[in-house]
Amino acid sequence: MKLTQYKKASVLALSAVLIAACGEDEAKTESVDEQKLSSLVKQTNYSTNFPPLFSDVIWGSTLDQQGTVRFDAAEQIPLYYVSKDGSNPPAVISNAVNTIEARLGNIFSDFTLVTEDLSVYRDNSLAHENVGNGSFNANEFKNSHGILGGLVIAQGTGFYSKGFSDSPQNMCANASMAPYDGSMALLIDPTSYTYAGDTLLWVNMGNGQCSWDSDIVVHEMAHAMGMYNHLDGYFGSWSTTAMDILATLYGNPAGTAYSSLVIKR
Ligand SMILES: [Zn+2]
Repeated sequence: MKLTQYKKASVLALSAVLIAACGEDEAKTESVDEQKLSSLVKQTNYSTNFPPLFSDVIWGSTLDQQGTVRFDAAEQIPLYYVSKDGSNPPAVISNAVNTIEARLGNIFSDFTLVTEDLSVYRDNSLAHENVGNGSFNANEFKNSHGILGGLVIAQGTGFYSKGFSDSPQNMCANASMAPYDGSMALLIDPTSYTYAGDTLLWVNMGNGQCSWDSDIVVHEMAHAMGMYNHLDGYFGSWSTTAMDILATLYGNPAGTAYSSLVIKR
């Protein structure tokens, strides 16, 4: 049963990854009115099927979502950068964090550097794809690095499967629950409407066959932070309106009814 549910969720997640063939930049600098902005917050944050939201354990009771869900930002969201040599994140990544914090305040911790060769989790028999080999275990990863929850950024781990696109550029990066993985399911505290404290989400940048920039890093971080659904031109790789949406999501308490949001811009 669990496996079936997981596979179903994976398919849902992957279809969302596929839509991530973004690049629609028509509305990059357009500002929308308050009513439109509040409807866009709902459109991106309210989960109709992706990601599935649960209220006790993942694959337990489904959350009856009545308002916004997101990371708990009462304290700084722990931020990690994983590489095989323990190096600092490149500017293209740290600039993305700075872009978000310039608007939302200092909501992330400084980067904690994690040393691990993530390529051991890749299925190397599929040279032209970039998918996991099934060996990644989230709890083992967290335990071995003393991590509870937060956001992990890594390079080269973007999920790419030919089953979803012939173009690796169209699936260049994603946000998910694991490296080389496209799935996401979230456990939400039903009283606070924030992610469970042990929620660790991955921002996977690049698949070895594509190029990406700081806007795409912000875009994927925003997916993990609660902007789950793309928005017909208002999300793009990143945009003025997308930043207004993220600022509104984090500028109101988690659980705020979409109709009661105070717009932040
Ligand atoms: Zn996307």
